[in-house]
Amino acid sequence: MLVHHPVFSFPRGADSCLKRNIYDKMTLMMKCRRNKGQQFTVYGKGDALVNERYDFKEIEAKWQARWAAENLYKTPDFSDRPKYYCLEMFPYPSGKLHMGHVRNYSIGDVVARFKTMQGYHVLHPMGWDAFGLPAENAAIKHGNVHPADWTMDNIRTMRAQLKQLGISYDWDREVATCHPGYYKWTQWLFLQLYHKGLAYKKKAAVNWCPSCATVLANEQVKEGACERCKTPVEKRELEQWFFKITAYAERLLKDLELLKGWPEKVKIMQENWIGRSEGAEIRFKVADMDEEIVVFTTRPDTVFGVTYMVLAPEHPLVEKLVEGKPQSEAVRDFVRRVRNLNEIARTATDVEKEGLFTGAYCINPLNGERVPILVANYVLLEYGTGAVMGVPAHDQRDFEFARKYNLPIRVVIQPPGEELDPQTMTEAYAGDGVMVNSGQFNGLSKDEGIRAVIAYLEEKGLGRGQVNYRLRDWLISRQRYWGAPIPIIYCDKCGIVPVPEEDLPVLLPRDVEFKPTGQSPLADCPEFVNTTCPRCGGLARRETDTMDTFMCSSWYYYRYTSPREDKHPWDRARVDYWLPVDQYIGGVEHAILHLLYSRFFTKVLYDLGLVGIQEPFTNLLTQGMVLKDGAKMSKSRGNVVSPEEIVAKYGADTARLFILFAAPPERDLEWSDQGVEGCYRFLNRVWRLVASVAGGLLEAPPKPAGKLVGVNRQMHRLIHLTIKKVTEDIGNRFNFNTAVSAIMELVNALYQYKEVPETDRDPAVLREGIEHLLILLAPFAPHITEELWEATGHRESIHKQPWPAYDPEAIVEDEITIVVQINGRVRERVLVPAGITPAQMQEVVLAQPRVQKLVEGKQIVKVIPVPGKLVNIVVK
Ligand SMILES: [Zn+2]
Ligand SMILES: [Zn+2]
Repeated sequence: MLVHHPVFSFPRGADSCLKRNIYDKMTLMMKCRRNKGQQFTVYGKGDALVNERYDFKEIEAKWQARWAAENLYKTPDFSDRPKYYCLEMFPYPSGKLHMGHVRNYSIGDVVARFKTMQGYHVLHPMGWDAFGLPAENAAIKHGNVHPADWTMDNIRTMRAQLKQLGISYDWDREVATCHPGYYKWTQWLFLQLYHKGLAYKKKAAVNWCPSCATVLANEQVKEGACERCKTPVEKRELEQWFFKITAYAERLLKDLELLKGWPEKVKIMQENWIGRSEGAEIRFKVADMDEEIVVFTTRPDTVFGVTYMVLAPEHPLVEKLVEGKPQSEAVRDFVRRVRNLNEIARTATDVEKEGLFTGAYCINPLNGERVPILVANYVLLEYGTGAVMGVPAHDQRDFEFARKYNLPIRVVIQPPGEELDPQTMTEAYAGDGVMVNSGQFNGLSKDEGIRAVIAYLEEKGLGRGQVNYRLRDWLISRQRYWGAPIPIIYCDKCGIVPVPEEDLPVLLPRDVEFKPTGQSPLADCPEFVNTTCPRCGGLARRETDTMDTFMCSSWYYYRYTSPREDKHPWDRARVDYWLPVDQYIGGVEHAILHLLYSRFFTKVLYDLGLVGIQEPFTNLLTQGMVLKDGAKMSKSRGNVVSPEEIVAKYGADTARLFILFAAPPERDLEWSDQGVEGCYRFLNRVWRLVASVAGGLLEAPPKPAGKLVGVNRQMHRLIHLTIKKVTEDIGNRFNFNTAVSAIMELVNALYQYKEVPETDRDPAVLREGIEHLLILLAPFAPHITEELWEATGHRESIHKQPWPAYDPEAIVEDEITIVVQINGRVRERVLVPAGITPAQMQEVVLAQPRVQKLVEGKQIVKVIPVPGKLVNIVVK
């Protein structure tokens, strides 16, 4: 037996050791400073200290270390509290966090912290989508870096960066898809799909990126180019593994209705991608040959209007049709030329449509007419059947093609109140109307015609009604090293043999050569390739392709529930408890690929009895991009702001606050240095406010007692209005920006309130204001609030405090009755808000209809408002 070397293992333990060291160091630093006795000017209750200066570096390191040491974010597997699974899409470990990551995770962190404080049992994990091309490309480019080491280094760097942001992850649940303990189960899941007939192998024309030297899924081809490197994609014929996602097309489409918490645009994108269309499959016999051409059309009502037939150049029939015909050489040249063009060059709307007559004809099954067969560049073999019936009068593309090649145009649908003439038509007519030139079907409407023609085709055995999907099966094999090996063995005697489950994982060997050959480096590794057949014991070969990384990310959210489980991919009870994900957060660029694959996987797992849910993500939030100077941040544009720099200069709390304050989460966010400065100044303001009152704050009662009046009542009211607004903004709408605005207003009001003479102000209201300010701000800026919470004398973490409920009575606006006197006689009583100014009193009173009547025709000499009591009007 060959010996496999595990690629790496997690440095568990090392990490927590590091945390303790930092913690010890911080405590030491605090002690030293205290002894010097110069930095601390304000003392809180107990031994808590408040520095006058907001020293974010010290505070953030201190709390990150303490939270880690105290396991503050560790999530027990079960709880009696209602569960809430908050998940951000896990990153590819590229080496550095960018602002898009910071935005994604800051949003998730606010949600997780808010829900925790609301009493939910929150799961908030993080991990790494760690297989993939960049690691391998780095190995090819630099030669001396192993993809495993490159990946692990990057994970270490990014994990440290995430910790610096103070995000409330339960790091004990961290997973990396390149870890053998993880990909063992990716392989196991492949086998379940294989046994279920949902994984199969076939030769296929595939999208090939010559630069990345790999196969790409249709979903990874954007406008004919490789999504990753923008190189135009070529076609290649290769043996490939596929997942039969098309078998789930209807369910994936129908169940979009269940996803009430998903953005409409994402559902529309998936709907379009699945691309369901109803129509008919129709068989055209080839004239003088025992062959037929099958087409799919959504408009069987127009079959009498077919004047030509077009085949894709790759259509297997083309060679047979031209054989021995005078056109044969010209057609073969054309086919060779077109085949080398990529899809985009062939189907773009501005590309010249080219075609060539094959010399052969087929027979229209409805009217028996002979129809010329052409080949053309715009028909693709991968879509539909690779053949298209040409109906130029009623399809714009066919119309343009027919005009160019002088092919006949025949109207078979006449629009209401209009007479189409093929000679003068300037464009195709695709709308509704009445069937003409269509034999027994004349006079039917479009929809009646579609039904009638399908019924006729089925009766005569010439075709059938059919539903078609744009969705193709998911190509999952990659000719690369850095992925989960496909657990399949090839035996000359037994054929394709799945690796027995007890032999999993099929480990990636460490020592392979990285060359840009376009073949998996595993193929050049005899210790990996050569094996014995699990069935007959004879010599056999391993599959050397690895799996598309989208396979790894299609199930990771289950793994977080039981990350170290080694007998099963997950513990069923935990999955049943935690799933579905209550809130999923990520970029809209994953609207199709990852989100559709995850939905497909979940449905397969449900059918296999491995999970009890049919949809993995109940609510989805797709955050907007981070822009600078109106463009997406990118190295090539030179407009990148690095999170590291911002955190070093202003601290993580400022970075988080800015990113949450600058725009609603679904909109694009324009970077603004002034905006960052503003948030930094705001946190400094919070710091000074709380520091100035921290000492003795807890000596006041936690809540004001009795009836409040005047300025105390106003302050109390604003505190509760802010609680209400922030709760609703976060909870109902994710409007973090307006929530932060409300907190800023509260800070302004507290500054004013602090200036009220001590004899007039209620210390309980001040305490209530300061405490609620910190609690409401805690999900956004977790470090500074924790520090100030402690400084005011609190013993338990602010992040364990319950989210406050507003007092409905506190927010009622008080009203008082004032008296209106005219020349000293009481004439009217008016209800006004308690806080009304004298000028407002005067305005309200003079606007009263009864008052207006009484002073009509008289001259108003004077109006004297007496605040809270009356308004006296003197007339003559
Ligand atoms: Zn590429
Ligand atoms: Zn065998």
